[in-house]
Amino acid sequence: MADYQAPLREMRFVLNEVFDAPALWASLPKVAENVDPDTADAILEEAGKITSGVLAPLNREGDEQGCKWTAEGVTSPEGFKEAYQTIVDGGWNALGGNPEQGGMGMPKTLVSQFEEMLQGANMAFGLAPMLTAGACLALDAHGSNELKETYLPKMYSGVWSGAMDLTEPHAGTDLGIIRTKAEPNDDGSFAVTGTKIFITWGEHDMAENIVHLVLAKLPGAPKGPKGISMFLVPKFLVKDDGSLGDRNPVTCGSIEKKMGIKGSATCVMNYDAARGWLVGEENKGLNAMFTMMNYERLGVGVQGLGAAEASLQSAREYAKDRIQSRAPSGAQQPEKAADPILVHPDVRRMLLTMKGYVEGGRAFSTYVAQWLDIAKYADDSEQERRIHAEGMVSLLTPVAKAFLTDRGLDVCIIGQQVLGGHGFIREWGQEQLVRDCRITQIYEGTNGIQALDLMGRKVVGSQGKLYELFAQDVAAFIEENSDEQSLRPYLELLAAALERLSDVTEHVINQASETPDAVGAASVDYLDLFGLTALAYMWARMVKAAAAKAEGDTSGFYTGKLKTARFYYDRLLPKTVSLAEGIRSGSDSMMALTAEEF
Ligand SMILES: Cc1cc2nc3c(=O)[nH]c(=O)nc-3n(C[C@H](O)[C@H](O)[C@H](O)COP(=O)(O)OP(=O)(O)OC[C@H]3O[C@@H](n4cnc5c(N)ncnc54)[C@H](O)[C@@H]3O)c2cc1C
Repeated sequence: MADYQAPLREMRFVLNEVFDAPALWASLPKVAENVDPDTADAILEEAGKITSGVLAPLNREGDEQGCKWTAEGVTSPEGFKEAYQTIVDGGWNALGGNPEQGGMGMPKTLVSQFEEMLQGANMAFGLAPMLTAGACLALDAHGSNELKETYLPKMYSGVWSGAMDLTEPHAGTDLGIIRTKAEPNDDGSFAVTGTKIFITWGEHDMAENIVHLVLAKLPGAPKGPKGISMFLVPKFLVKDDGSLGDRNPVTCGSIEKKMGIKGSATCVMNYDAARGWLVGEENKGLNAMFTMMNYERLGVGVQGLGAAEASLQSAREYAKDRIQSRAPSGAQQPEKAADPILVHPDVRRMLLTMKGYVEGGRAFSTYVAQWLDIAKYADDSEQERRIHAEGMVSLLTPVAKAFLTDRGLDVCIIGQQVLGGHGFIREWGQEQLVRDCRITQIYEGTNGIQALDLMGRKVVGSQGKLYELFAQDVAAFIEENSDEQSLRPYLELLAAALERLSDVTEHVINQASETPDAVGAASVDYLDLFGLTALAYMWARMVKAAAAKAEGDTSGFYTGKLKTARFYYDRLLPKTVSLAEGIRSGSDSMMALTAEEF
C-alpha cells in the first residue's frame, strides 16, 4: 500500500482556485478575525504532516489489534494514546470551535480539509476528534453557560473527549421509541438510566474524561420524537474547581466485534442512575442533536471521501508499477516483459472513475462547507444571505452524507479491483479501506434515510423551494459563463442535466400528492441523480479554474483536471439518464409483491 499522503495540492486548488475561500472568509467578519490565507495554508501544511506522519502509520496496526475491553475499561490499540496526545498538543480538536470557550473559530471550508486528511489517514482514530468536535458544537449551541464553561474548554483542548449516545437495541432509525429515561434529582441534575448500543469511542483510555451527550425521555414526556431530551453525562463528575471527582455510573458493558473501523471502540453503554444535565430545552433534544448532525453528516461524507482518496493514491501507484500484458496499440515499454497495467483502457476507466468522484467530491464537500460557513457566520445585518445559506445546507447535507459515502465505497471497491488479487490481500490495505468505508453508509442515519430526508422533507416538503436555490445557483453559473471558451463543451451538457433533474423533481412532487409510496420509491435514485448533477457542476467550476493555467502546464495538474472533467461528462454524468427513467417508472413495481412473493 502506498503511504497515505495528505492531498494538499488538491485541497489548495479547491479552496483557493475554485472557490476563492479567502474572499469568502474576508466577507464574513467573524471568520476574518481568526483566519487569513497564510494562517489557513500553515494549518493545511501542519495537518498534512500530522495525518500523514503520525496517524496513517497507525492505521493498519489499529485494524490488526483492535480495542480491548475489560470491566475496568477499554484499551485502545498501541500508539493511539500517544497519537491522541499529539492531537491534543497541537490543539486540533479546537480548530472549528468557538473562540469564546477556547476554540480557534476556523471556518468549515478549512476544517473539512483537515477532517478529510484525518479520515483518509486513519478513520478509526479520526472518529474520536470528530465526535468530540460534534459534541462541542451541540453543547455550544444549546448548553447553559455553566455547562459550556465547565466542559467546552477541556473538550476543545481534547483533554476530555465527546461521544454521541442515541442508539438503543430496539431503536436506531426510529429514535422516537427510545427507552432511556431521565428523572429529576433535587439539585437540578437528572438520574439517567438505560442502555445504549453502538456508541463510538464511548469508553477508552486516550482522554481523562468522556462527555456523553445522551438522548433520554423525561417522566411524562410526549410519545415519539417530540418527547426526547438531551443530557450531558460525564464519565467522571466534575468538581466546582473543575477537577475530576467521583466516577459517574455510566459504564461500558462490552464492545462490538465488527467488519471495519476495528481500531475504534463501538460500545454498549449502561447508565445506572448516572448524573446528567439537561442540554437545551426539555423535549427538544432531537432538534439539539440535529444542530450537530448537519455538521457531522458532512463529516461522515468526508470520511467516505477520505477513504476514497487513500484508495486512489494506492491504486494509481500500483497501476503505474504493475506490469501485465501489452497495450492494445502495441508495446509501450518494450524493454520490459510487459507494459504497466495503466495502458489498458479498462484500468484507465477504473482510475478515472475514482478521480472523477474523489476530486469532484472534494469540490462538492467544500461547496457545502462554504454554505455552512455563511449560515453560521453571516452577520445579523445579512439575514437574507444567511437564510439562503441555511436553505442550501438543509438541502445539500443529505446529498453530501449519502452521495460521498456511496461513491466512497464504490471508489474503494474499484481501487481494490485495480490491484487484482492483491487488492483482496490484507498487506496492500485496499481491503481495509473497503471494510472501513462501509460503515459510513450506515451510521449517522443510513443512506436510505438520507435519501428520504432529501426527497421527502427537503424537496417535496418545501414544494421544490429549497431545490430551486440549488437549481438557480447552477443556472446562474451557466449564464455567467456562456462566453467562456473553455466551458463550451460542458455547459450545454450541464444545462441538460439540470433540466433532467428539475423535470424529475417536479414529477415526484406531483406524484407525492397522489401516491403515498412515490417519495420512498424515488428517493435513493433521486439522491444519486442529484449528486451526479452536483458533481457535474463542480467539474465545470474546476474546468473554469484550471483552463487559464493549463497552457504550458508541465506538472500535468491543470491539464489532468481538464481531461478528467471530459471523462466525467462522457462516462459518469450519463448515468443520470437511466436514473431519471427509473424514477419515472414510479412505485408500482416496487410495491407489487406480497410478503410471500419475496
Ligand atoms: C460501528 C458503528 C458505530 C456507530 N456509532 C454510533 C454512535 O456513536 N452513536 C450512536 O448513537 N449510534 C451509533 N451507531 C448506530 C447507527 O447510527 C445505527 O446503526 C443506524 O442509525 C441505523 O440504525 P439500526 O442499526 O437500528 O437500523 P434500523 O433502524 O433497524 O434500519 C434497518 C434498515 O431499515 C431501513 N429503514 C428503517 N426505517 C426506515 C424508514 N422509515 N424508511 C425506509 N427505510 C427504513 C434502514 O435504512 C436500514 O436499511 C453506530 C453503528 C455502528 C455499526
